[in-house]
Amino acid sequence: LISARDVTRQFRIGRRQIDVLRGVSLEIQRGEKVFLCGPSGAGKTTLMYTLAGLERPTSGEVLINGKSLYRGGRKEISRTRNQMMGYVFQNFLLMPELSALENVLLPAFIGRDDRLEQAKDILERVGMGHRLHHLPSELSGGEQQRVAIARALVNEPAILFADEPTGNLDSKAGAEVMELLTHLVSEKGTTLVVVTHDEGLTHLGDRVLHLVDGQISADAAPTAGVL
Ligand code: ATP
Repeated sequence: LISARDVTRQFRIGRRQIDVLRGVSLEIQRGEKVFLCGPSGAGKTTLMYTLAGLERPTSGEVLINGKSLYRGGRKEISRTRNQMMGYVFQNFLLMPELSALENVLLPAFIGRDDRLEQAKDILERVGMGHRLHHLPSELSGGEQQRVAIARALVNEPAILFADEPTGNLDSKAGAEVMELLTHLVSEKGTTLVVVTHDEGLTHLGDRVLHLVDGQISADAAPTAGVL
């Protein structure tokens, strides 16, 4: 479903050029749950953003369903994102003035007459059915992330991208959120790509890609039961 071919990304800071991704190639199959791990600054977030249509690579190609993601214009990239991708970020990024339900309704496809049911149903499934009308400020971090997950999944994307989804949570809430995330995508066969520092949770995935200095240094099944 997702292919990267010799992807590079460079940033220029003043006169200095830094090579954040140095020739990454990978294949992710439909329904796979892939964790991107590695030291701070290795380029994990940059790689995920590149696969997710959020950051154009300097060279190389990203293919979604065999089709080049960045070859089309901005409109086409944005159409692919809206139709196929959902996102969860470390800082939840909920709209502070909107209730949990309104946050989830926001991206729900307009014109779909069952969107209210759809939003309530997914909030129920993330365990937030009893918090529909709470504002983000009235929810714990773990609860806010559950709402963000519901928002990302309401349109049933083919691919869910998550950038450090447990980064702002304590270890118990973090483990619960990661278990929920992997459980929900397994139900629908959604492909999952997660950036995480939390190597203790990678047993929840099918595959762990280790990124070091902008290159994939290991690509393997998670080690079972490492906590
Ligand atoms: P962390 O685990 O600390 O989040 P990471 O592996 O996700 O790290 P990235 O966030 O991808 O790493 O960043 C890799 C490097 O690229 C860092 O040195 C960062 O400073 C640099 N970088 C990322 N985005 C930009 C940008 N827009 N402009 C300049 N440098 C950038």
